[in-house]
Amino acid sequence: MDLKDHIREIPDFPKPGILFYDISTLLAHADAWQVTMGRMAKAARQHQPDVIAGIESRGFLVAAPLALKLGCGFIMVRKQGKLPGKTIRHTYALEYGEDTVEIQDNAIEPGQRVILVDDLLATGGTFAASVELLRKVGADVTSAACIIELEFLKGRDKLDIPVHALVSYD
Ligand code: IMP
Repeated sequence: MDLKDHIREIPDFPKPGILFYDISTLLAHADAWQVTMGRMAKAARQHQPDVIAGIESRGFLVAAPLALKLGCGFIMVRKQGKLPGKTIRHTYALEYGEDTVEIQDNAIEPGQRVILVDDLLATGGTFAASVELLRKVGADVTSAACIIELEFLKGRDKLDIPVHALVSYD
């Protein structure tokens, strides 16, 4: 099955000139979603993770079922101010301004093997910041996984871990 047949391309969203890859249609198609998660699990299993970390918000949709399939825990990497209790944060530069990602301070034990998951890899800034954050608490981030990679943006060059993408656009 070609998963691209189930990914919608929406021009000028969220801003003029941006082509947005929309996974809503993939999620809504029972067979395509099953195949997607089966392929994700196959790629992820080889890294023998203890924990799957999902990046807010569409990353949660992929990471949570992946964790269930692999028998791992699932943790949330969120934007600043969303998680209750004590948190660990990492602030990173954007093209204009900065952003902060957070996890709960007890989410991961040092040395645990973590796979970081999002729906899409674009410039790699979000993945790179999340890797930094997880490393702050001593996680062993073994790999990153996503459904879609925008290969022309060379996001994987920002990462020093293997990246698994199910489909790529160039
Ligand atoms: P990056 O930090 O530039 O790699 O951007 C990746 C983040 O932006 C991910 O969390 C994606 O969910 C989101 N993103 C960027 N472009 C798209 C798109 O075309 N479709 C869906 N999400 C996108």
